[in-house]
Amino acid sequence: MTHSIRQLDAHMINQIAAGEVIEGPFSVVKELMENAIDARATIIQVEIQQGGKRCIVVTDNGTGIPGDEIEIAFKSHTTSKLRTIDDLQHLHTLGFRGEALASIAAVSRVEITTKQQSRISGYRAIFESGQMTSMEETGCPDGTRIIVRDLFYQTPARLKFMKSDGAESARISELITRLALSRPDIAFQYINNNNITLTTRGENGLSPAVLSIFPEEIGRNMFETAQKTYFLENYRLSISGLLCQPHASRGNRQYQFYYVNGRSVRSEVLTQGLEQAYEGALMVNRFPLCVLYIDITPELLDVNVHPSKVAIKFQYPQWIVESLGDYVKQALQTQTTMVHSEPSR
Ligand code: ADP
Ligand code: MG
Repeated sequence: MTHSIRQLDAHMINQIAAGEVIEGPFSVVKELMENAIDARATIIQVEIQQGGKRCIVVTDNGTGIPGDEIEIAFKSHTTSKLRTIDDLQHLHTLGFRGEALASIAAVSRVEITTKQQSRISGYRAIFESGQMTSMEETGCPDGTRIIVRDLFYQTPARLKFMKSDGAESARISELITRLALSRPDIAFQYINNNNITLTTRGENGLSPAVLSIFPEEIGRNMFETAQKTYFLENYRLSISGLLCQPHASRGNRQYQFYYVNGRSVRSEVLTQGLEQAYEGALMVNRFPLCVLYIDITPELLDVNVHPSKVAIKFQYPQWIVESLGDYVKQALQTQTTMVHSEPSR
């Protein structure tokens, strides 16, 4: 059977488009946490019930949203982070596509409470099927709290594809670990079914965050490395972070964390740079651990490869592989020298 050609209505378009941005509860958590980070929050709390399927609450103490912009923020392709296409070349925010809030609201029930720091009171608004159904002024703390209930309640096909509570919350835990490590200066708290599952204190320095997140036997075998900067013509590449002693390697890459310009990424270029430098020190099928922060001239980076922004593309990947390799080798050498020069007892 065929129908005549019609334009889909806005809610349907958003529901379909949401499929790309919102794969499951973990994508909701990711988008809301990234918004909180972009809003310069110093404290971010995430609470989930039943793997996030029933309820996800993200609370931040960031800038808040002005009352007259709440409804706009939930429309698709609305953002305060990008004005011209050139801005894509020097982004300093995690978000820029303006799709997250619209997508989330298209496939769940949303409640937002938000207050700007300069204001005496804030606002609470409710969204159903992507539409704002109520908004009222209310007393509340500075910052934003977004509650997402009943994800995919109108799309049974998507509901079916959600995993068990345990599997969904494992994905969320992994995500929160990654985001918490991306910003050791922010205090994160993660509560899963009323249990506090992860806490960082937002202290200066990397090691405290790593030690509060990683199991003790893993954190103990990692060491901080001094920042080093590489140049290629006018381009800059700075690397810092934590690496592991070769003997602490593992049978998988679970403990490899890479951040490029503040964004948690997966990149074969980076994996290759790291692992080549460990070659010879590790047995086959053993993988080093790392938490690496890479800052690079933004022009050399394309983050707009996929809506989830996890994949990135580098220009001059070979330069990256070599620089990272050099960095890791030097760090390992220095570390070995330090260990060996400790006075023996
Ligand atoms: P993007 O993050 O790509 O801009 P979103 O749909 O995630 O798009 O958010 C839309 C806009 O809503 C943001 O640009 C920002 O201005 C505002 N916003 C969203 N979440 C928050 C928050 N937690 N605190 C302050 N402002 C927010
Ligand atoms: Mg966003």
